[in-house]
Amino acid sequence: DTALYAAKRAGRARFEYYSDVMDTKAREAELRRAVAQDELVVFFQPIVALATGELKAFEALVRWNHPVRGLLGPGEFIDLAEETGAVVPLGAWVLRAACREAAGWRAGLPGAEPLRLTVNLSPKQVAQADLVTVVEAILTETGFPPDRLTLEITESVVLQPDPLTIGRLQALRDLGIHLAVDDFGTGYSALSYLRRLPVTVLKIDRSFVTGIADDAEARSVCEAVVHLGEAFKLHVVAEGIETAEQAAALLDMGCTTGQGFHFHRPLPPPEAGDLVRRQLGAPGPAALTDRNA
Ligand code: C2E
Ligand code: MG
Ligand code: MG
Ligand code: MG
Repeated sequence: DTALYAAKRAGRARFEYYSDVMDTKAREAELRRAVAQDELVVFFQPIVALATGELKAFEALVRWNHPVRGLLGPGEFIDLAEETGAVVPLGAWVLRAACREAAGWRAGLPGAEPLRLTVNLSPKQVAQADLVTVVEAILTETGFPPDRLTLEITESVVLQPDPLTIGRLQALRDLGIHLAVDDFGTGYSALSYLRRLPVTVLKIDRSFVTGIADDAEARSVCEAVVHLGEAFKLHVVAEGIETAEQAAALLDMGCTTGQGFHFHRPLPPPEAGDLVRRQLGAPGPAALTDRNA
């Protein structure tokens, strides 16, 4: 009978709804506990000069060293973190861990001082009233210099910049921190907003870099972002460079900096430290020649 069937279906739907909520709650709790118990790890992906491969910066990328499921990438938990707000303590944890690690490289090695560190900020973090206080406290605690730090915001933040957000971003800029727009080009950032925000870097989204060699449209977007960077005096960084051909095409366009598997994958902290020491440590003859060239 249809009424009974409908009631059963409604019952099942309600059950599934509650079980989804329970599931979300349980997963959120697990994630918050993971943050509190230091189950997270920061990997570091080198950002390099495209012409020479020279190490310029590291992007901090979070991983979750899950006791049962193993090492999880952000794709498996960052959306849940964002939806539930767990991304706020998670993001602070990542910033602290990344600054501490990078401050360690600097402390041991004068050559590492110019290295920059870039860290992703989620929209929820940007919306926090105490964002600036939290960031400032972490910089003080770790001793990492504000003018070597770049915080990456997403285009969704750029598209809806309420005055409070702009104020917070400006306060970060006033501390000397640089601000990048991540995945640039995917959200059709309004140019007027770009102009009003105190950003200093545009990161070309990987989807455009991927198509640069054989997709005329992707190529045009890359060119457009490079030109936009020139017009607004913003530094442009390409992400997701997987081939020498892509790196060459970007260089041709005047984009000098980028990251991607062609150069380096995100590295666990010990390997990132090794790379720093290899590239920026006590200069061997080759490094000296490079620097004087
Ligand atoms: P993103 O900030 O755009 O970071 C770049 C992503 O591209 C990273 O993925 C990196 O591993 C990947 N990638 C880099 N080069 C290549 C390449 O040549 N080919 C391919 N196929 N991929 C490449 P990952 O680490 O999985 O991070 C995914 C996204 O998760 C990040 O994208 C960022 O939006 C978010 N995320 C990562 N860490 C954090 C964090 O600490 N906080 C927040 N809020 N978001 C984070
Ligand atoms: Mg990023
Ligand atoms: Mg990116
Ligand atoms: Mg991206």
